[in-house]
Amino acid sequence: MNINNSGKILIVDDDPGVRSSLHLFLEDNQYEVFEAVDGNSGLAMFRLEKPDVLILDLRMPQTDGLEVLRQVTVEDPDLPVIVLSGAGVMNDAVSALRLGAWDFLQKPIEDLSVIHHTINKALEKVRLIQENRKYQTHLEEEVKKRTQELRLMNEELEKRVSDRTTELQRINAELIKAKEAADEAAKAKSIFLANMSHEIRTPLNGVIGMIDLLNDTKLTQEQAEFTQLIHSSAESLLVVVNDILDFSKIESGKLVLESIHFDLRVTLEMLSDIMALKAKEKGVEFTCLINENVPTLLNGDPGKLRQILTNLAGNAVKFVEKGDVSICVSVKEEHDDLIKLLFEIHDTGIGIPKNSLDSLFQSFSQVDASTSRKYGGTGLGLVISKQIVENMGGEIGVESELDKGSTFWFTVCLKKQKKSKTDSVDVPATIKGTRILVVDDNPLNRLIVTNFFHSWECFYGEADSGQQALSMLINAKEAGQPFQILMTEMQLPDMTGAALGEKIMSHEKLRDCILIMLTSIGQRGDASRISSLGFSGFLSKPVKKDHLLNCIKTVLTTPACPGKPTPKTFVTKYTIEENIQTDLRHEHQLKILLVEDNMVNQKVAKTMLKKSGHSVEIANNGKEAVELFLKQTFDLILMD
Ligand code: ADP
Repeated sequence: MNINNSGKILIVDDDPGVRSSLHLFLEDNQYEVFEAVDGNSGLAMFRLEKPDVLILDLRMPQTDGLEVLRQVTVEDPDLPVIVLSGAGVMNDAVSALRLGAWDFLQKPIEDLSVIHHTINKALEKVRLIQENRKYQTHLEEEVKKRTQELRLMNEELEKRVSDRTTELQRINAELIKAKEAADEAAKAKSIFLANMSHEIRTPLNGVIGMIDLLNDTKLTQEQAEFTQLIHSSAESLLVVVNDILDFSKIESGKLVLESIHFDLRVTLEMLSDIMALKAKEKGVEFTCLINENVPTLLNGDPGKLRQILTNLAGNAVKFVEKGDVSICVSVKEEHDDLIKLLFEIHDTGIGIPKNSLDSLFQSFSQVDASTSRKYGGTGLGLVISKQIVENMGGEIGVESELDKGSTFWFTVCLKKQKKSKTDSVDVPATIKGTRILVVDDNPLNRLIVTNFFHSWECFYGEADSGQQALSMLINAKEAGQPFQILMTEMQLPDMTGAALGEKIMSHEKLRDCILIMLTSIGQRGDASRISSLGFSGFLSKPVKKDHLLNCIKTVLTTPACPGKPTPKTFVTKYTIEENIQTDLRHEHQLKILLVEDNMVNQKVAKTMLKKSGHSVEIANNGKEAVELFLKQTFDLILMD
């Protein structure tokens, strides 16, 4: 369709002149033209012919143009309506434009080309509107299509997410099941290990106990050597089994801590006895210092504490070839009822390379295979120690330098026993104010004993050589404040302790000084030699506090005669222990009920208890124990 020259035009006008002039002009311009003489026939023609443009007169009889316009815009809102109005009816034109008329022309139309132009513009606008509408419809369809596609994609995605979630939930459930099964298996394994270790430990303890009993019988030297070897092999096996037992207990969460009263000093002294013996075999010096302000009457688990210390100090002794090993205890934090103690275990041993330090506290970790072959061990000691330390509210760590040595340290929290500031031993009045000179070139050794002297309110001096000791003794004597006791180490830098003793005994002014030998290198037979030199006491390091107190008390009350051997009053570890044992035996002869099903252990325990002066009844099981308990009175029941 040529828009310029074709299209249907409907002219509605009551004026025949206008109609015919327009009709002719438009037909000449290729339009198809219809006419209507009034509003009503105009509306009918509009409905019938569906014109492209309506030319509408506003003022007509009966139905006027505005009414027609109102009707037409309702029925075909896109139809361009050009209104014709006479002069002076401008208001009608404004109303028509408001109702939706496209344009208006004023009659009489002098230049008909104006109407031609207006019609063209109107048709162009209709075309644009229709194209726009088409385009909009197309767009809407596209949007609808895209929306539909997106909805499908969304549904697909949601389905995939839901499938994946279900799959993950399934995998998760399977994993939880597998983990539970693994936990169960690990638990079963730990329980089995714990049971097995227990089963092995019982006969092993029997072996060790029986060897101890055998050792107390008359043996040839060869037999004694054999029993010694059996003993040390059994002890090593026991350490391994104990490690495994502890490790499996910790793994299965069965590590339970005791809460009992104990004396830290006693715990450490017992441990030091064993460690010093091992150290001495290697020619290594072992010292243990409890700082003066450490309260020693505590409450906690002494067995577990000893276990950590045995492991760390045992390692220190194991990995040291020469030099020394020391344990030092100090206060880290102190509160009203609680105390946090710091234990430092120092050695001058092989040290640990920096890159191995991190893995040291992990299970089965040993610094290198050749080390473990040479020194032995399970690689569990440090892991167990770490677990126990953490259970006791502390931390553990190490500083080490290769070929120089290591310092393992740990802290633990313990309860203080009520009314115990530091350990209180009843100090005999005779000891208070005693003047003692300590001679030792190792400052730590001097510190250990001077700490004791300080707590007993003694006066003390320190010398690090024989010469210094001699001049201090002479100076003190001349000043009228002589030292009553000289306590010396055997090995001094400039002379032996024995030679120093001899010099003192042969010195006119000094011979009334009481001499005590306190040595770390004592050998069998030393005691009698020392005694013959005029010494009154002979003790080996590490010395127990109450042993030293007992020794000083004894030598003060029964001094040796200068120059003459006095074996009866000569004080040694054995005379002190015998005194203590005799006291105990007199005080505590107990009637004991031993409940134990293992025959070997029965035999070991019974023999040992009888040796200590107690009487023993044996029950093989709980039932027998109850029956015996109901029939007889016991002071103590020992029960497996
Ligand atoms: P083990 O029973 O093998 O001694 P531990 O857990 O007690 O097991 O020690 C693990 C490893 O740590 C040891 O094998 C050793 O390599 C190293 N180690 C521990 N203590 C020391 C030490 N004082 N000096 C040097 N190396 C040490």
